Order: sequence, then structure tokens, then C-alpha cells
Amino acid sequence: MFHIAGEEDIKKGKLTDIYFERTERILKALKKNPVVKAEIFLKAFPDGYKWGVLAGIEETVRLLSNVDNISVRCMPEGTVFRDYEPVMVIEGRYLDFGIYETAILGFLCQSSGIATKSARCKIAAGEKALYSFGARRIHPAITPMVERSAFIGGADGVSTTLGAKLIKKEPVGTIPHALILIMGDTVEATKAFDMVIEPEIKRISLVDTFSDEKFEAVRVAEALGKSLSGIRLDTPSSRRGNFKKILEEVRWELDIRGFNEVSIIVSGGLDENDIIELRDIANAFGVGTSICGAGVLDFSLDIVEIEGEKISKRGKMSGAKRVIRCNKCFDDKVVLENDKASDYRCEKCGGIYKEVFIDAIKEGRVLYDFPEASEIRSSVLAQFKNLEL
Ligand SMILES: [Zn+2]
Repeated sequence: MFHIAGEEDIKKGKLTDIYFERTERILKALKKNPVVKAEIFLKAFPDGYKWGVLAGIEETVRLLSNVDNISVRCMPEGTVFRDYEPVMVIEGRYLDFGIYETAILGFLCQSSGIATKSARCKIAAGEKALYSFGARRIHPAITPMVERSAFIGGADGVSTTLGAKLIKKEPVGTIPHALILIMGDTVEATKAFDMVIEPEIKRISLVDTFSDEKFEAVRVAEALGKSLSGIRLDTPSSRRGNFKKILEEVRWELDIRGFNEVSIIVSGGLDENDIIELRDIANAFGVGTSICGAGVLDFSLDIVEIEGEKISKRGKMSGAKRVIRCNKCFDDKVVLENDKASDYRCEKCGGIYKEVFIDAIKEGRVLYDFPEASEIRSSVLAQFKNLEL
């Protein structure tokens, strides 16, 4: 048996922190079960980030869709959000959903952390392709969630078959060192790939296994000719020296021999800063740990109203709120939930505020339309013009 929870365990509340289960027992014993409004927000981003990309909404809505009479208002999945902005408000009887707090935050914190890091890498990469190659860095049970989050954050492709199926894309891959080691030669391995693998799959060789990248790149290009789509450099850090110079040299040697169409894919320990450093020369980036193993975003869930009365803990503003966003300058305003966006004009640019929140579940009825991953990704990419790293 693997050390994993199943969907049923999550739905039955078995993944709750024990103190919520005890709270449930106490409230039941005292016959207390008030209608509350609880808000999910984040106080601070890691590493000085100024914004995040919200993910995990779909799984949260699915979890809460079985709760009677619950209402969930939230930002749609893929919305860029800032600190101290509510991203979701849950309204219902406390005992109906209190036990799910641990799982809800788990969905949102991890998925959003990955989507945010992927967005940062994609902004860095710009027009160049970004692939999520980090499935090997995480527990396989959560790979589909991780790869979906990476994709909606902006990655152009993912590497596993099941992850790709979830986002309705073909998986992306090149050639592993294993094939080259077993074949004993880079050219032989690439030729074998060319012979066996369907022609629609791009031929991307790996040129760092046995000898210098530039000589291997030229050998492979000359052997494969037009059928070679690209080469990948996964050069170990101990051999990198000036990695950008190595890439420039490889590009130069390919170009002067007429292989201008052969693209250069870079992988191995990259993050957004490495991508910025290499993006003028590389055509694509395979990113592993920094996206798949991205730090979580620390959302918290706090009660802000009990039976219609505004109340909250220290350090938190009471009353259920929502976010409105200027349609021109992307400025946000947090307002009480009954305020109208039309009551406000942007003080910064005079633009009009639009609603960010949607009704995901209304009194137990699911209204969320579960958009395709590629649709969410497009909406994330469209927000990049307003963002800086
Ligand atoms: Zn504005």
C-alpha cells in the first residue's frame, strides 16, 4: 500500500487537523451550529513576490459541492491576486464545512504556489517555450494536480501521460540519458529514436552525456539532417562554468553549418532568474524542481461574520468582503460584499471597477462551470501584461 489518501478519505473529512474534529464534537455537544461567513486570504507572499496566481478552486468547489445549503463566492481559478485580498468567501453552517478547512487550504496553498511559480517562469521566458519536467521531484499521487497547476500558470506543456491527459494536451519529452548510455552513443540513440518513434513527435537529442555539447550537437545535426528538431542541454552544474557561453557557442556552430532551425532546449535546476539569463539564446526551457516543488502560498481561513454579525480575530478585518478590479490599470479594491462595484471609480486612473468574484456555489447549487485547463491558462497569460516579476 502506498502512503496516500483517496478521494473518499478527503470527502469524509479524514484529512482534517484533529482540533477541527474536536471542535465539531464540542459544538455538537453544546448544540451550537451558527451560520458563519469565512474568508480565505493570504497575508504575505514568499520571496518578496507581489502577486500570485490562484489555483485549486476546481477541487475546492468539488469538495464543497456535497455540502447542503453552502454558498461559495470566489475569484475564478487563474485569477491574479494580491496579499490581504479575499480569494474566497464560504457561507454556511459551521459544522457543515469546518472540518474541511485543512483540505481546502491544502488544495489552494499548494496549487497556487505551483501556478504562481510557473507564471513567473513563463513571464521570464516570454515567447520561448516553458515545459514542466519536474514530475520526478514530487509524490506521483499528486502529479496530475501539480502538472495542471504548472500548465494553467503558463507552462506550455507537461511531461507525464496522465498529467497531460488531465489538461487535454500531448505530453512533451526529449531523450533521457538512459537511452544514450544504453545505446553507447548520442548519434546512435537519436537515430534509434528517429527509427522507432512516430514521425509527428519532435526529434530532440540530448547532447551532454559523453562529450562536449558543441561537438555532440554538430554530430547529431549532421547525422539527422532535416529530421532533427532540437537539442537539449542538461549539462551538470559541476561542468557548467559559463552556461550562457556554452549555449552561444553551440548556437554559433550549428548556425554556421546551416542548422539555424535546430532549436536549443535547456534543462536542469532552472528558475525564473536563470531563464532571464538564458532566454536570448535558448528556444525552450524544461523546468523541474522550482515549479513542481514550488513553495506553498500560506492562505488562511478566518471567520469574519457569525449569524450576520461582523466579527474577526485580531489582525483581520471583520465582515465578508470581495475584490473589485480596475479594468484599465489592474488596481484592486477590497470592499464589503454588499457594496456595488459601480459605486467606485479608480482613484489612480479614473477607470471602472469590475467584479472579480463569481458565485461558485449558491445555497448548495453548483454554478461554477469548470473551465478547461487551456481556457484558464489563456486567462492567466492575458493578465501578464499587468505584472512584473
Ligand atoms: Zn485604474
